[in-house]
Amino acid sequence: MKSDYKGIWVFAEQENGKLHQTVLELLAKSKELQKHNGEKITAVLLGADVAALADTLFAYGADAVLLAESEALREYSARPYQKVLTELAEKYKPSIILYGATPLGRDLAPRMMVALDTGLTADAIDLGFDEDGVFYQTTPGYGGKILAHIVILERRPQMATVHPQICEPLEPVNGAKGELLVENLAVEGDAEYEVLETLPAEKSGESLTEAKVVVAGGRGVKNEDDLTMLRELAELLGGQIASSRPLVDNGMLPHDRQIGQSGTTVTPQLMFNIAISGSVQYQLGMQKAKCIVAINQSEDAPIYDIAHIGAVVDYKKLIPALIAEIKARRQ
Ligand SMILES: Cc1cc2nc3c(=O)[nH]c(=O)nc-3n(C[C@H](O)[C@H](O)[C@H](O)COP(=O)(O)OP(=O)(O)OC[C@H]3O[C@@H](n4cnc5c(N)ncnc54)[C@H](O)[C@@H]3O)c2cc1C
Repeated sequence: MKSDYKGIWVFAEQENGKLHQTVLELLAKSKELQKHNGEKITAVLLGADVAALADTLFAYGADAVLLAESEALREYSARPYQKVLTELAEKYKPSIILYGATPLGRDLAPRMMVALDTGLTADAIDLGFDEDGVFYQTTPGYGGKILAHIVILERRPQMATVHPQICEPLEPVNGAKGELLVENLAVEGDAEYEVLETLPAEKSGESLTEAKVVVAGGRGVKNEDDLTMLRELAELLGGQIASSRPLVDNGMLPHDRQIGQSGTTVTPQLMFNIAISGSVQYQLGMQKAKCIVAINQSEDAPIYDIAHIGAVVDYKKLIPALIAEIKARRQ
């Protein structure tokens, strides 16, 4: 029965005892949802030696923390995590489960969808309740041409992976307390494979998420010489080079430089968008930048809808002039 399911669950993703930033964002979003349905917010924390994180989860808005610890959960491994979370969801029957749209969340959530035989929205950019009180998840569809409101009418729990940075974490209330539910489950490791070692991904530069200035190039950047010009501008401004998806697809830049729905979300003070049309998927990753500069030879490019400053011009003419001007003023 649908009415047996109550409560908003946030999957409290952690790695090496550190909570992922999306968990705090999801707790803030859950608080908004709670205003509509009044249901308890539970952060579900799986791992080993992670109990101390409960205080952080309470401080950022969890009413309860459901903790399952086991050596087999120390490193993320899909099958043990899925089995434990399934067992907990079947016991407690939450009405909603939210995961960050992180690599881990994107791996775990579809497995949960199959295990619980329910619906899942991938990479939601908004969540809410419609006028009939039905929980919806918004996600871009048809290559970003529409925004789809997805509802899961019959199945429970209703699940979504949620795009990072759609919501600011709440101000933490230090010392906040909640209900700590500890589940001692017998967890078996995965018999099929074993994690031997976890290595940090190689980064091609400073983290884009921290950058104050980002210079991003799009499909109109055709070769290494053009890219070198953009790199020079980025360096002069103390910023980072980035791109829309085509430059990653064609191998000119690694994936950690891609901005957008399937890349990184950035919030710099200054954001150059050079020869980028500004698709919905791209805008999702940069629309919160403080000052958005668009350089595109087509005045119809959607990037101009959100740009604060724009130049309708061939960037190959403008960027060298800009670089020369910056250098001249610094002499
Ligand atoms: C599920 C899904 C996820 C996606 N995720 C992402 C994502 O994370 N990030 C992302 O970027 N895309 C993503 N995409 C792809 C997205 O839909 C677009 O195809 C992509 O963003 C287009 O990149 P672009 O603007 O560089 O290229 P285009 O749309 O081809 O635009 C190129 C622009 O360059 C301009 N231009 C060309 N030459 C010059 C010049 N010399 N001077 C000035 N302007 C010039 C043109 O006028 C044009 O506006 C995703 C798509 C899907 C379906």
